[in-house]
Amino acid sequence: MRQSSLVVVANRLPLDDNAAPDGACEWRRSPGGLASALHAILQQTPATWIGWNGGIDSAPVLPDVGTLRIRPVSLSSEELQGYYEGFANSTLWPLYHDAVEQPVFDRGWWETYRAVNQRFAEAAAELAEPGAAIWIQDYHLQLVPQLLRELRPDVLIGFFLHVPFPPPELFMQLPRRAELLRGMLGADLVGFQRPQAAHNVAQLAVKLFGAEATDDQITLDGRTVRTGAFPVSIDVTEMQALASRPDIVEHAEQLRADLGQPRRVLLSVDRLDYTKGIEHRLTAYSELLRDGRVKVRDTVMVQVAVPSRERVDSYRVLRDRIEGEVGRINGEYGRVGEPAIHYLNQSFDRADLAALYQTADLMVVTPLRDGMNLVAKEYVAARSDNSGALVLSEFAGAAAEFEDAFLVNPHDVDGLKETLLQAMDADPADLQRRMAAMRDQLQRHDILAWARTYLTALDHTGRLAAGLR
Ligand code: UDP
Repeated sequence: MRQSSLVVVANRLPLDDNAAPDGACEWRRSPGGLASALHAILQQTPATWIGWNGGIDSAPVLPDVGTLRIRPVSLSSEELQGYYEGFANSTLWPLYHDAVEQPVFDRGWWETYRAVNQRFAEAAAELAEPGAAIWIQDYHLQLVPQLLRELRPDVLIGFFLHVPFPPPELFMQLPRRAELLRGMLGADLVGFQRPQAAHNVAQLAVKLFGAEATDDQITLDGRTVRTGAFPVSIDVTEMQALASRPDIVEHAEQLRADLGQPRRVLLSVDRLDYTKGIEHRLTAYSELLRDGRVKVRDTVMVQVAVPSRERVDSYRVLRDRIEGEVGRINGEYGRVGEPAIHYLNQSFDRADLAALYQTADLMVVTPLRDGMNLVAKEYVAARSDNSGALVLSEFAGAAAEFEDAFLVNPHDVDGLKETLLQAMDADPADLQRRMAAMRDQLQRHDILAWARTYLTALDHTGRLAAGLR
């Protein structure tokens, strides 16, 4: 078994089971942010990526992708249900997003979650060379740091949480709260999107374990765990290159023509998830149409709602509600050949997204809670002429970096309506100034800067980050 000095452990592999019918492997750019985020860095440094390949009871031998070795972890149908759909996405996901949907606490799921985390830890232990760094990603694998430490005390263990970490009073609802927190604190460095998360974890470590804790380190069982904020970013160079490709510019023009050359195009791109605030946004838009403050003949809204977690009940229910509402709005305010909302329940590739971003005068990103929101960053990266407006939820991690966006509380429908109008009617010079400031911020904090900063913090010598451009 060949071992690596850097091992990434994530729920999913970045490519599909069937992406290599002829032996050639392509990156699968999953609609989730994680594969997008890590795609750029792992092509530049030799590493192994451990993850589920999307199949049931199958772990095929997959060829390397560039310098990246791929090692699939197999899941059975019961494991998928208990670990992924159950504990990860029906317990932790809603709880970590302010419980905007009621978390489900099912005792059976916990055992499966623990067993699957153990399997990931064993795979990492096997593939790490002595003294290697193991970088574990996200809430699906929160027990892996401690499980891995038991197997391989010699390795450096990093954990990064891509989603928010909730306030203590919410986390305390979890029946297995102590085990889950201890699992994560098995790492040497725990990274979050925002400083508030590190503060929440420190408070919990004091409360649950009587640990000594500050916002940047926790001492527990004689070990020190460092914590901190490392806001994730995107491959800015890739998005800029796409946005300036002549065929994509032409595609964007064609899209605008297909939309009937409206004066304004509003765009939202979300996984179809209850955290994304799609229903609040539709209510606001519908009221603007009702009040005559927005007219279908000069403004169109495009809502991309990427199918997501469709085996989880609450997601199916949400889809029905959203599609019912879009139908109602179009029925009430649309005209022949001119729907008020163009609704696309599909996943687009990066080139198509770049064209959509260019078509949009207003990008409306209004999640009720979001770890970061990469879509907001991609829109800014795609606006190379500094035009366009970003309406952004205060509750997205990206808001901490984009002070020049039109920031909004997405729960406040009246505030949302006013902010949409303000952004629609803004002076073009003001929009240019705002976009230039956001682009400047983004250029300085791209995905490579994120990985470099995190890996340097994990390994004080900077050895791991040295391979990154
Ligand atoms: N995305 C995609 N195709 C789509 C819609 C979105 O590839 O049709 C990508 C998008 O480019 C972004 C990611 O999915 O990189 C979504 O990340 P984000 O942080 O916005 O939300 P998440 O889905 O991780 O909650």
